[in-house]
Amino acid sequence: MAERAADNERFQPAPIEPGNALRPATDAPHRKAVLRALLWLTISCGIFFASVNITVGSFPVAVAELAMAAYAGILLLVRRSSTVHLQRWILAYLLPFCTTMMFACWYRRAQATVFVWPILIPVISYLLLGRRAGFWFTGAFLTIALVIFGFKFAETENVYSVAGIANVALCAACIFGLSHAYEVTREQAEARLRALALRDPLTDLCNRAGLAEIFPRQLAQAKRYGKPLSAVLIDIDHFKHVNDQYGHETGDAVLVSFAQCLNNGLRECDLACRLGGEEFALLLPHTDIAEATRTAERVRAAAAESRCEHNGQEIAITVTLGVAELDPACDDLSSLLARADERLYRGKSEGRNRVVSE
Ligand code: GH3
Ligand code: MG
Ligand code: MG
Repeated sequence: MAERAADNERFQPAPIEPGNALRPATDAPHRKAVLRALLWLTISCGIFFASVNITVGSFPVAVAELAMAAYAGILLLVRRSSTVHLQRWILAYLLPFCTTMMFACWYRRAQATVFVWPILIPVISYLLLGRRAGFWFTGAFLTIALVIFGFKFAETENVYSVAGIANVALCAACIFGLSHAYEVTREQAEARLRALALRDPLTDLCNRAGLAEIFPRQLAQAKRYGKPLSAVLIDIDHFKHVNDQYGHETGDAVLVSFAQCLNNGLRECDLACRLGGEEFALLLPHTDIAEATRTAERVRAAAAESRCEHNGQEIAITVTLGVAELDPACDDLSSLLARADERLYRGKSEGRNRVVSE
């Protein structure tokens, strides 16, 4: 029986690491929403606290808070029209925000209760920056806050006591730990969901959504470096007969076996997908139409020679393939696949078990 292609890790469609072919997690929509909410909160809280500080005569802190509120307003306006990576906007907000907070803690007339605010840092940092950057950002600013707390109340007996320090430090440490645990679990859940959404469970290849996720990066690279990019559409011939003759379970085994056959014949950088049913696609970076046609021909020959053994029976299949090369000036994924599809169906009408590339 054909084995599942589950052990093939080349086309993991759901990694979260930045630099991967997929969209980095820092562009996650929830981060945009959190940043927007925080900018609005910073504007309203900044104006409120600045008014309070003006009435009690703490002008330097009031100026810093008003400046931060104005800066948050500018970020809110500018970010809408910007294409710069979200992570940079987050840092452009978080660094001055936390620095203003440290200044408010350090200011000589500030009360001890101002130190409740640094306890927000782990929550905000993990929500906006994720696990790794959130950890270092929180560690740095909570340490600064604790040092300021220690220095500031060194002479104030009732605050600078073991209980006083322990209350602030342990509460901050608990929220730090909980935020970290939450983010680790959230990232794992997101990775699992993305893997489920982008992968075909039967063959373990990318599905259509996975191809759509990966294609823009490949398109951008092809345009940027002036390299060709080709797609091959593959359809198993008379697959309905396989199901009718051997049963649906055997049909599934044939699909899995063919997926393995596809993977075995490709380079590391190539991508094989199952688009649905008995239709597959290859995305071949750095490959022009001539080279893609040779690859398609190898796939056709390998499929025709292979035999899928299932329940003591040997099943032979053939496939028909349509090949198209990207026109970087006007193609997107659907027009590229449409051209390959038109050739594939010409191959079907011309008798199947063939490659059509023009
Ligand atoms: P052609 O050569 O024209 O492509 O003929 P075909 O029989 O391959 O194409 P057709 O579209 O008529 O039939 C496709 C069949 O694929 C029908 C459907 O039952 C079967 N199929 C689709 N998805 C699956 C699946 O996940 N497992 C199995 N076993 N069969 C599937
Ligand atoms: Mg079909
Ligand atoms: Mg078919």
